[in-house]
Amino acid sequence: MRPDPPVTLSNRRHVNIDPAPELAEAVTVTRFWKLVTQGAPDECWEWTGDTDDGYGVFFYHGRMRPAHELSLSFSTGEKRLESLDTCHSCDNPPCVNPAHLRFDTRLSNVRDMWDRGRIESGEAHPHSRISDATVREIRQRRANGARQIDLAEQYGICSAYVSEIVNGLVRQEAGGPITGRSKRTQRSPRSTRRKAA
Ligand SMILES: [Zn+2]
Repeated sequence: MRPDPPVTLSNRRHVNIDPAPELAEAVTVTRFWKLVTQGAPDECWEWTGDTDDGYGVFFYHGRMRPAHELSLSFSTGEKRLESLDTCHSCDNPPCVNPAHLRFDTRLSNVRDMWDRGRIESGEAHPHSRISDATVREIRQRRANGARQIDLAEQYGICSAYVSEIVNGLVRQEAGGPITGRSKRTQRSPRSTRRKAA
């Protein structure tokens, strides 16, 4: 009689006849984080896997996906909306530290670079109040399809206030697209008809 073959990793796979899909997902996510050099929480975390044009890429659910986008999704549980980019606050393409990433509009990404220049030169703490630029950004993102509940969470304000902002009920002077149904039409102060001479 022949002895049983030794159990190896390859023939052990056949033992599990009832694989759990959530565990397959966990294996993928574990494999993802093995490709990340995790430093201190505020440092850039370098991607060590495949790259495309300087950005990390990872094969996930049938296609190559940006590693920084997956890093943010795997950390927050949030899926990137099609209208948004995954933006780096550190301007370092191979970085996948979720603390340096956010889903945002391309327009806001450019504006953010200007804002950072101003903040570094001594502006008050950016979260101490909602600036006019942030109000415009919230309105723009809402116009681009962002959900009010996501905006509220990302800007640390309540969703009722987001609703008032996007409907133009508050902060009208800040500008930006008003997308809500309660859009107000402002009457021109010079609407009085001039009499013909
Ligand atoms: Zn970084």
